[in-house]
Amino acid sequence: MLDKDMSLSCWESSDGSTGSVEKDCRCPLCLGESQRVNNRSVEHFLEDKYRYNLGEESYYICLNEACNAVYFNESKDMIFKKDHIKIPIWFKKDADPKYICYCNHVTEEQIVNAIIHEGARNMKDIIRITGAMKNADCQVKNPLNKCCGPLIEEIIARTL
Ligand SMILES: [Zn+2]
Repeated sequence: MLDKDMSLSCWESSDGSTGSVEKDCRCPLCLGESQRVNNRSVEHFLEDKYRYNLGEESYYICLNEACNAVYFNESKDMIFKKDHIKIPIWFKKDADPKYICYCNHVTEEQIVNAIIHEGARNMKDIIRITGAMKNADCQVKNPLNKCCGPLIEEIIARTL
């Protein structure tokens, strides 16, 4: 009986002790780093016609800005690329529009404009002017499943 080649499988690289350890799962296209994401979020980003292909496995998002792969599953037999998703991923090359706050559709450009043209100086100003971070559902709507606040702070710091 032949052993299935598991050398690339994600679960092989985890220590298997608690299951709570973040598994290291390289992108099958670029071999770059990835991050585990919530399947409900993958479903939210995918074009409707591909949702049925999701399956039950855990998904990861490729963090390499130059790579066309966006989501892939643990066994790496499902790969969704940029043209399979309906909302651009901000950190991928040429994302247009480049959303920072996905919950309220606030783009990087709007944040920069609020700083340059409307005198925003801090997070409070940005929230007031752009409506960012209201009614947040980051676990699903943000591609990295986390709050965009730190990213807004970064944009403020480099634009001021
Ligand atoms: Zn990749």
